[in-house]
Amino acid sequence: MARKVVIVGAGPSGVLLAHYLLQRDQGYQVEIYERRNDPRSIPLSKSRTFPLVINQRGITALSNIKGLVEILKSVSIESTGSLNHEKNGKTQLIPRSQPIYILDRTQLIIMLLETLTGKYNSDRLKIYFENQCNVVDFETKTVKFSSVGNTDDTTNITVNYDLLIGADGARSQVREQFLSTDEFEVEQKYVPSAYKSIFLPANSVTSLKPGYIHTWRGSDGIAAILVHRTDSSLSGTINFPRENNLIANFSTTEEVSQFFNDQFPEIAQILPESEAEAFLNRPISSIITIRCNRYHHGDSVLLIGDAAHATSPSLGQGCNASFEDVAFFDKLLDEYSDDIAKAIAQFSLRRKPDAHALVELSDNAFPISNKLLFLEFFIRLRSAQIMHQLFPKYFSPSFLQLLSESTVPYSEILNIYKNWIAKVKRANEKFLRN
Ligand SMILES: Cc1cc2nc3c(=O)[nH]c(=O)nc-3n(C[C@H](O)[C@H](O)[C@H](O)COP(=O)(O)OP(=O)(O)OC[C@H]3O[C@@H](n4cnc5c(N)ncnc54)[C@H](O)[C@@H]3O)c2cc1C
Repeated sequence: MARKVVIVGAGPSGVLLAHYLLQRDQGYQVEIYERRNDPRSIPLSKSRTFPLVINQRGITALSNIKGLVEILKSVSIESTGSLNHEKNGKTQLIPRSQPIYILDRTQLIIMLLETLTGKYNSDRLKIYFENQCNVVDFETKTVKFSSVGNTDDTTNITVNYDLLIGADGARSQVREQFLSTDEFEVEQKYVPSAYKSIFLPANSVTSLKPGYIHTWRGSDGIAAILVHRTDSSLSGTINFPRENNLIANFSTTEEVSQFFNDQFPEIAQILPESEAEAFLNRPISSIITIRCNRYHHGDSVLLIGDAAHATSPSLGQGCNASFEDVAFFDKLLDEYSDDIAKAIAQFSLRRKPDAHALVELSDNAFPISNKLLFLEFFIRLRSAQIMHQLFPKYFSPSFLQLLSESTVPYSEILNIYKNWIAKVKRANEKFLRN
């Protein structure tokens, strides 16, 4: 009889996992439960989204499902480098030897959902939106959901499972249930910076070149990232320290416009009044990082993606690492001939060193506010890239190349760059203390 897999969360990791399990053979039936509404049914402009960079790790995981990489490329912007904009108008280019692909999180999920529902019918795949996971009973292997749609009466349903996947993100409810189990440890930390999304219209007259990630460093730890979308509009985030930030105190659009004039004049030039107002009203998002001592419980529950190891978005790795989780779990199912209990226990054991290393790398790769250290980072990066290009046998690729253009395990990268990470960590801690 087919095994019933219940996936909580239709984010990138949950939907890709459904692809992988259904591709294995007829032995799996999948039900996905997602708290939010179906992203295919609402306009992109109304969805809560931000740009995601998909690198070699993500591409490698997607490439195991026929057609996904081609579709991803067709709905993404291909980028060959980052342009760091300085206050004096000059730019520093960080080129890439391999392209990365940029698209909105919502677009990514839509493409994963459309391809999934295009391949499998309701005999093997069911997707329920606006259903929130509340409680898991590990003994009876059941999970309770309540309907959170625009209806007055809340419907509760109880669903049984053979395998339950918590793919429900950084604030995972499935992980929350692990807290009642023996010897489960989780560390949750707030990233020192928070962010607000920003969207700039397609008709903006701008000198910003498409195909690059544009970054600016303002004063006091404030930074901006902008990328083009396929319709030539721009989207990105303004990042700023979570505490004592001026952005939280804005009450008028004039203050917003003044802020952009002072900090990011190139963005101010293309910021329409309507977006200044939308920016003012948009909520500030905070980010948490998660480290757990295990990702499975018993013989039938597994956490993947951000639910298992949410990271700071500074290195653009969270989604890529979540895709790696899925491919890794699939390999374990191969290795253990679909013995779920063994595969999930091995997932905890073998994935943990890389997941913990990723959180450490993402927290401490970039200096928050030390300009000299940032310059050192840039010089180290460029010289490593050049030396590797000239003498690939003797010099390893740069830090960013290893992260984005290879599938070298994160724990190995942390080991290679441990001195740099320790140096930045000390500087960041000092900045945050003052
Ligand atoms: C500003 C920003 C920029 C980023 N940029 C990048 C980048 O460039 N590259 C990159 O690789 N990563 C990036 N990330 C990280 C990336 O977004 C995450 O790592 C990725 O989305 C994780 O996927 P996931 O499916 O595990 O979790 P999520 O994307 O969080 O999806 C979880 C899903 O579960 C649902 N859910 C939650 N709770 C419940 C519940 N109780 N019941 C039912 N459903 C529930 C949620 O609604 C959601 O749809 C960025 C993150 C941020 C915040």
